Amino acid sequence: MTYARVGASGLKLPRIALGLWHNFGSIDRYEQSAQMLTRAFDLGITHFDLANNYGPPPGSAEETLGRALRTEFRSYRDELVISTKAGWGMWPGPYGDFGSRKYLIASLDQSLKRLGLDYVDIFYHHRPDPETPLEETMAALDHIVRSGRALYVGISSYDKEGTRAAAELLRTMGTRCIIHQPPYSMFNRSVEQGLLQETQRQQMGVIAFSPLSQGLLTDRYLSAIPTDSRIAKQTGFLNQADLTESRLAQLQALSKLAQERGQSLAQLALAWVLRDQAVTSALIGASRTSQIESCVAALEQLTFSQDELARIDAITQSPDRGH
Ligand code: NDP
Repeated sequence: MTYARVGASGLKLPRIALGLWHNFGSIDRYEQSAQMLTRAFDLGITHFDLANNYGPPPGSAEETLGRALRTEFRSYRDELVISTKAGWGMWPGPYGDFGSRKYLIASLDQSLKRLGLDYVDIFYHHRPDPETPLEETMAALDHIVRSGRALYVGISSYDKEGTRAAAELLRTMGTRCIIHQPPYSMFNRSVEQGLLQETQRQQMGVIAFSPLSQGLLTDRYLSAIPTDSRIAKQTGFLNQADLTESRLAQLQALSKLAQERGQSLAQLALAWVLRDQAVTSALIGASRTSQIESCVAALEQLTFSQDELARIDAITQSPDRGH
């Protein structure tokens, strides 16, 4: 594993990190989830990413990690970076959603109970809130750090203007916003519209979520829809309608290019996200340990020729771009 510094902070993250959005809920077999966590750690993946609502049911992924921390990882807390978030709907009524101080602090207290921890390493505001004043949300993050509930704070899915405003507000409060968690993959390049420059200006790190486009940018769907895949299980935002003929043609062409580089399609997709030093870490999901092993092996070949980059652009900019 290689580790990269998170912006100008003192923290380093593994260039491949593991997220617990899917396959770690109480509907999933604990032994399988625990096996993925321990294998990941053995491969040097020291960072596990959560949110209050991961499961299903919501909250249960934090309980799964809490159980693993008490058993499998009992003496390894200080070798791990654990993050969680609040910002999407978590409980009924006006206090369990978006970005009020009321919501963020109560939610993190609930997360800490489910995880069985005194603090998390990184706490994120999960998405921008169009109604709550940004000052209030950032003051809540500042309070969370000062009260010892989190060591660092970050933001997720903020646009470049929101990122600049959030970072500047936190700086005036004396707390740094060290990391941004946006989506980034060959199929979703919204961060290239100025966000990556802004994070660099603010000396923030970037951890790219869904770098495999939720599993599309892998060999999973090249010939059929496997019954144990995310599309078949209908647990995410990915569905059969995303597998258009033109999308499949793009995946076949990318897979061919990957083979020429001696990589799988998933490895090509991860290497591509990590080619840019502005990206600290690629935040993957997985449904089995072999996927994690294969993703980590992407680090063996992160460089691209100009010709390869141009081919990737040509393939992904053909119709159907933008998932
Ligand atoms: P990915 O794009 O990495 O997709 C993961 C899926 O790809 C796996 O579940 C698996 O599909 C497939 N896969 C992974 N590795 C391989 C491999 N080597 N070969 C073949 N298939 C593979 O990421 P996710 O969409 O799961 O998101 C990752 C994390 O990002 C989340 O857990 C969460 O922590 C974070 N996230 C944050 C968001 C935010 O708003 N901040 C939003 C979304 C995600 P299958 O299950 O079908 O086997």
